[in-house]
Amino acid sequence: MKRELHEISKPEYYNKLFSTRCIVSGKGTQPYYVPFQIEIQCASTKCEGKCGYGEAKIIELKAEDEAILMFIDIPSFRISRVLANVFKISCPLFTHKLVQMQVIERIFISQLIGKDKNKWGFSRVAYYIGHDIETNTTYEINGYTTVDPSSQMVTYVITSLRKLQSDIDIFSLSSAIVKRLKKFQTKSTDETKMFAELRSLYTSYAHNVTKIYGDNRFLLHLSVDLAFHSVLSFDFSNERVYKGWVDAMIIGDPRCGKGYVAERLSQYYGVGEVIGADNASYAGLVGGLQQIQKHWIISWGKIPINDKGLLIIDEASEIRHEDWSKLSRVRSEGIAEVTKIQAQMTNARTRLLFIANPPYRTVSNYSYGIQALSDIVKTPEDIARFDYVCVVAHDEVPIKTINEAKSLLPSIYVRQAEKDLITWTWSRRSDQIKFTKEAVNEIYKQSIHLAEVFDYSIPLIQGENVRIKLSKLAICFASRFFSSCDNYEKILVKEEHVRCATLFFMLLYKSESNGYFIYSQLFRSSSGEVATKSLHAIEIYFRTYNNRHEIYTFLMMTNTITVNDMAEFLGKSKDLAIEIISRLLRNGCIMKKRSGYVKVPFFTTWLKHKIQERMKQL
Ligand SMILES: [Zn+2]
Repeated sequence: MKRELHEISKPEYYNKLFSTRCIVSGKGTQPYYVPFQIEIQCASTKCEGKCGYGEAKIIELKAEDEAILMFIDIPSFRISRVLANVFKISCPLFTHKLVQMQVIERIFISQLIGKDKNKWGFSRVAYYIGHDIETNTTYEINGYTTVDPSSQMVTYVITSLRKLQSDIDIFSLSSAIVKRLKKFQTKSTDETKMFAELRSLYTSYAHNVTKIYGDNRFLLHLSVDLAFHSVLSFDFSNERVYKGWVDAMIIGDPRCGKGYVAERLSQYYGVGEVIGADNASYAGLVGGLQQIQKHWIISWGKIPINDKGLLIIDEASEIRHEDWSKLSRVRSEGIAEVTKIQAQMTNARTRLLFIANPPYRTVSNYSYGIQALSDIVKTPEDIARFDYVCVVAHDEVPIKTINEAKSLLPSIYVRQAEKDLITWTWSRRSDQIKFTKEAVNEIYKQSIHLAEVFDYSIPLIQGENVRIKLSKLAICFASRFFSSCDNYEKILVKEEHVRCATLFFMLLYKSESNGYFIYSQLFRSSSGEVATKSLHAIEIYFRTYNNRHEIYTFLMMTNTITVNDMAEFLGKSKDLAIEIISRLLRNGCIMKKRSGYVKVPFFTTWLKHKIQERMKQL
């Protein structure tokens, strides 16, 4: 009978046959040999064959017999006694010869992605009678529920199985699907008009699906949605990009709605999986060894289990610093690897959306919100792997707007169409993604532009690889608007999609909560003469203060500088604080932000230097 995996441990299924779909998420480090055909012969002088084995006889231990589990984890000298027990051999003395053996693998089975996740989010131990089983693979399994004879725990014996193809593997374009998908097409070739269309779409999703409102949440919705529309690999300008899928991060204040947007869009589209901090270890994300009653099982984590799909990792700030560097291979090559006891590898080409809180409580505690990123992920190489990072502050949308109950809006596309669009995108092979000549030229042109605008000291946009990030995002926009050619079989990336991708980067990094743009501007303009001049003037100015080291300490410690805080810290009048701030401002060392003043990077560097000098003197 066809069953869901979570049903088959109910008491009524004991020793009943079942058939279900599952993922084989892990297997033991070593399989077992247990007898299959055994030759039994009476050897007792008292019995003289009354037991029925006077003549040698071959008996078989079948997969369908639950007693098969009694033959694992036992020493060889016990086999004879277990045989007597299982086959009810009454003879006091008999010999046995193992004619043929069979293989049993101890495996982990887990529920399929995207279905009733809450009912059975974990994996269970089962035994497969056979040797040809692959991990991180989806199967239809047939077997029965039984108990582990050594512990009485519920387990499953799998007698036969069949590899399953996913919705993506079997996707084919019917005229009905094409008709639905054509609704996503647009006549606009102007990126601002195309963004306006997306804006109306996400407004409808805010009302109907995510319940996270406000104009400023547009970029949050777009950042989440684009990840759903990325492809596995593609060719760009005679270069194979093996990692075509999006790997992005959203940093946001607690309760800003970042998790909801991701989780609810994933539910609405019916694809992707959301995990929290309890899975944020390396073993939970990539894989590791688990000990089940003294037995080692290598089991795969959530990233490989979602191969070719999408994984939302909530509470990514819980990922330990050393684990980020261990994630390098899976994030750069899409290969998961466990090397303990024995090495195993599997595919992990998984779209990744990391969602994190700023380590120092709120985004506004940082001069530039994007700086929170380097507190979550330490090394520049690991930061550079993000295709984009969206930063959302709590105060961007008035609390009132968030709490207002909103009516539902008419939906723009039917839900099935959105699902079809994603399946179409996910099933495109690299030879089914085509860039027009104009698009390629535009990518080169915009790459130079972006590399000039943004500073690589935050390595999100770097001259050497920005073209890859840009082409990846351009594909996402082409997919979003169902831009296609060759009878809808190929994604066609045009110039306007590249301009959309550029606009996306600009809007994302120009947003006040993000600050990557303004940070870059200050860092760039300050290089050279201007900075030297300002710092020289400031150096002379501070010489008149006996307590200048206290002032330096205050300025260094404080991300957002205010007159009151400075006066309090120094124990001096507000007038003095105003005087210092005014001088710093005129020399371009600080700049005004909503809640106070923030330091520009060259001034921070200078301060650090001053403080280090002082430490040496003390
Ligand atoms: Zn006998």
